[in-house]
Amino acid sequence: MLSRDVLADPVALTRALVDIESVSGNEADIADQVQHALSGTALKVERFGHTLVARTELGRPQRVVLAGHLDTVPLNANWPSRTEGNLLHGCGTADMKSGTAIALHLAVTEAEPRHDVTYVFYECEEVDSARNGLKILADSRPGLLTDASFALLLEPTHGLVEAGCQGTLRVLARTSGRRAHSARSWLGDNAIHKAAPVLQRLLAYEPRTVTIDGCEFREGLNAVRISGGVAGNVIPDECVVEVNFRFAPDRSEEQATAHVRDVLAGFDLEVVDSAPGALPGLDAPPAREFLAAIGRPPRAKLGWTDVARFAALGVPALNYGPGDPNLAHKQDEHVEIDKIVEGADVVRRWLTKGP
Ligand SMILES: [Zn+2]
Repeated sequence: MLSRDVLADPVALTRALVDIESVSGNEADIADQVQHALSGTALKVERFGHTLVARTELGRPQRVVLAGHLDTVPLNANWPSRTEGNLLHGCGTADMKSGTAIALHLAVTEAEPRHDVTYVFYECEEVDSARNGLKILADSRPGLLTDASFALLLEPTHGLVEAGCQGTLRVLARTSGRRAHSARSWLGDNAIHKAAPVLQRLLAYEPRTVTIDGCEFREGLNAVRISGGVAGNVIPDECVVEVNFRFAPDRSEEQATAHVRDVLAGFDLEVVDSAPGALPGLDAPPAREFLAAIGRPPRAKLGWTDVARFAALGVPALNYGPGDPNLAHKQDEHVEIDKIVEGADVVRRWLTKGP
């Protein structure tokens, strides 16, 4: 179990959490250990599968969420952890056990925060969203999250504040034709050739860059896969171009879909997947205080993260964590030890002293 000394030191705690192997689906052990650590506090702790929610009940006027996932992507000859100077190496060091360690360290050691705090440690972030512990919590017990006025997700941002996130939409553009022997191609109708105008429109497309609350969101509309063809001597009767639209959070999913239908007007389109973006949400007082505590301007998050789940519940959320997001899921994943110390200091200062 995690000792008092380890819980008191966010670097040692990061290392200890990394050394509890918790590839998605295998979070029982780490959740048990986190639950045991939380049970020694005044927090009200509830467990859902391998997701833990721990709340202060101090009667403060505002409540904030600190959240981190417990799982990692599969190991890649990068476990257990090892240190090398200022670097802590190992699977999950950046994404995101260093951030999760900061939240757990504060949960156990900070008894008098200025705001009430809901700590969430959740399972299965790195796999299908249906298994995501935060999604399951948001669907089954939203009230545990919606009474907060701000959420901080400690995903890797390398010590910067990353605000909001882009939405994503996948659409299949399908062309059809008629099969024939390719020796008598005039008897058929080539569906692959008919996909050329889809690609031309994507090639000519000029994506927007939108600035919202000082954060720059760069959109992109791209073909990400193409399939078609029957055999080497057959004129193909179907071709499918899969298109991914990453859109700024000033568009809703519906508006993003309408935009893609506009760009690809005249083609047979099928929306197969979509997820909304999240506005930066920097107006909430706890968000403004947090930005003041960081003292550096926020930047846009150019991916999809669980901040969008909080935004969908009406809770503005930011990403802030010590890891470098560019090292996430890589074999040489590591985190700078001084970034963990700095991150823990910043979050504690914000939770205790205010602006
Ligand atoms: Zn992550």
